[in-house]
Amino acid sequence: MKQMNYNSPYFTLYEVVPDIYAAIEKENMNVGSNAGFFDLGDRIIIFDTFLNIEAAKDLKQAAMEITGKPASMIVISHFHTDHIIGLPAFMSDKDHKPMVVTAPFTQDIMERELEADIKEIHGLPESKMQEFRDQLANAETETERLNAENTLRFYNNIRHPEVTAVIPNLTITDKLIIHGTKHTVELINIGTAHTTEDIIAYFPTEKIVFMGDLLFSNHDPWIGSGDPKYIREMMDLIIQGKKESGTEPAPILRTMLSEDFHKWNSPCFDWNSNFLNTAYWEKLKK
Ligand SMILES: [Zn+2]
Repeated sequence: MKQMNYNSPYFTLYEVVPDIYAAIEKENMNVGSNAGFFDLGDRIIIFDTFLNIEAAKDLKQAAMEITGKPASMIVISHFHTDHIIGLPAFMSDKDHKPMVVTAPFTQDIMERELEADIKEIHGLPESKMQEFRDQLANAETETERLNAENTLRFYNNIRHPEVTAVIPNLTITDKLIIHGTKHTVELINIGTAHTTEDIIAYFPTEKIVFMGDLLFSNHDPWIGSGDPKYIREMMDLIIQGKKESGTEPAPILRTMLSEDFHKWNSPCFDWNSNFLNTAYWEKLKK
C-alpha cells in the first residue's frame, strides 16, 4: 500500500494496489467515514461519499487528477448519513451525472426520507443550533462531550447550502459484476449486517474488499440497525475463507472482533438493542 502525494485536509489517500485507492479520514476533520475510488481502466467508480460535502469535492478532484477521467458510478454502501451526504458533489457537472448504485432498502429509505430530512435540518432556527453548541460547552462527561460533538457535526454538515437529496438510480438485489478493461469488481449485496442491507465492493483477482462500516480496524464494529449475530458469522466466514484459500488472514481481520464482542458484551450492543427494542414495539403497534 502506497501513500499518495495528494494534499487534502480531510483524508489521506492510499493506493492499495495499482488503480485501487482508499481515502482514509483524518482525525477531527468532520468527515465521518472512509471512502475510495477505483480505476477499472475504462471507467471510474467512487465508493461512498463522506458526511462532509467539501471532503467529497476533494475526493472527486483526487479521482479526476489521478485517473484523468470523471466517475461514471458512485456506490453507496449503506444509508447512514456519513456515507451519503457528499453525493451532490458528484452531480454538479450539468453534462455528466454518474449512476448512483446501492441496495434496494437503501434506495427506498433515501427516496422516502432524505429530501424531507434535509429540508427540516436546513430549516432549523439558529437558536436550536445554539442549543447544540451549549450542550457541547456544558458537557460534563466524556460520553456527553462525544455525543454533543457528533450531534453538532451531523447538523453542521447537513446544513451546508449545497447539500441536497440525491437518490440512487440503480439497485443491486444480489450481485453486480463490472468488467473493466483493467480490473473486475463485484458489488455484492450481503444482506443484513451493519444495516438492513449493505453493499461491499470485492476485487476477486486482487483479493481486496471495500466493506463500508462492516469493518473497523482494531475496534468492534458499530452495528447500528444491523444484526449482531449475522455480522459475527459473516466475519468468521471471511476469516475462514482466507484460511481455506491458503493466504494468511489479514491482521486487520484477525484482531477486529474482541472477546467481549463474541460474548455479546461490547458497548455497541446498547445502541443495537435500543434499536431492536424500538423496532419491535413499532411493529407490534401496526
Ligand atoms: Zn454506518
